[in-house]
Amino acid sequence: MEKKSTLLIVDDAPSNIQLLAGLLKDKYQIKIATDGQRCLDLAQSDPVPDLILLDVQMPEMNGYEVCRHLQANDSTRQIPIIFVTGKDQTEDEEFGLILGAVDYIIKPYSPAIVEARVATHIKLKQQNDALRRLAMEDQLTGLYNRHVLMDVSTKRISQAHRHNLTLSVLMIDIDHFKAVNDEHGHSVGDAVLRQVAAIFKQQIRTEDVIARFGGEEFVIILDNCDLAKGTKKAELLRAALTGSPIEGLRVSASFGLAQLRDKDETFEQVLHRADEALYNAKNNGRNRVELAD
Ligand code: GH3
Ligand code: MG
Ligand code: MG
Repeated sequence: MEKKSTLLIVDDAPSNIQLLAGLLKDKYQIKIATDGQRCLDLAQSDPVPDLILLDVQMPEMNGYEVCRHLQANDSTRQIPIIFVTGKDQTEDEEFGLILGAVDYIIKPYSPAIVEARVATHIKLKQQNDALRRLAMEDQLTGLYNRHVLMDVSTKRISQAHRHNLTLSVLMIDIDHFKAVNDEHGHSVGDAVLRQVAAIFKQQIRTEDVIARFGGEEFVIILDNCDLAKGTKKAELLRAALTGSPIEGLRVSASFGLAQLRDKDETFEQVLHRADEALYNAKNNGRNRVELAD
């Protein structure tokens, strides 16, 4: 069965929450908050809500302010907000919608209309999520695609420079992969790529960025990692690949590792050095790790 979408209902009056929750609890998973700060916390904790039903008049932080905070934060900006409020003036509604809410429901409301509007916005959210995934993911492996890698890495690297942190870039290319296709067919080749990706993903930390860079090439950004630590990590990945047959085949890869230089080195530059190291790994016999100088 499909997983239920999650609604976050925010209202300082528990009776209002009960009313809405009673209406929606059969179709959705419900989270509740009775003040703005709690709403901001719950919006970032698992399960992240797919839609927020937000009261306007609340003590301390009102709904408009909550909305502004949600919109200002990268991790909550994509959650649609519907205001549910007694403020029934046209200016109120205009204000709420201009702030970025997707809808505005005035109390007292018709239960059927609330249900219908919630259903519509949940459907839009699901379609939006699917599109985002399509745009970010490599379809074969589920890893980030090259486009996202460039974007995320640029951010990670400016962070590393700003806070004087080490960072390393690992570039990986499967050895003699063309032969896998030639001898066993393209679909076996695809299955190998999927499994190699899964093995790499299993071995890295969740905060490390891994992307499929091209055909049988992968890139991993290792935060807080110098050449020594990065080498250990690369050797682990190398061993994980060669440790057991994949699709009944012996699969290996070559690895090029470069540590970000101080000052102004860009992602393109450090990636280029990792690529040169990878080239050396190929020339020096494959199934090995080489470091950039
Ligand atoms: P090397 O050890 O020098 O890296 O040799 P190689 O054969 O791995 O390298 P080469 O670049 O000659 O070949 C890469 C092959 O990867 C060729 C291409 O058909 C295959 N490939 C690229 N993308 C995919 C894909 O999505 N699926 C499959 N099955 N094969 C792919
Ligand atoms: Mg290759
Ligand atoms: Mg290649």
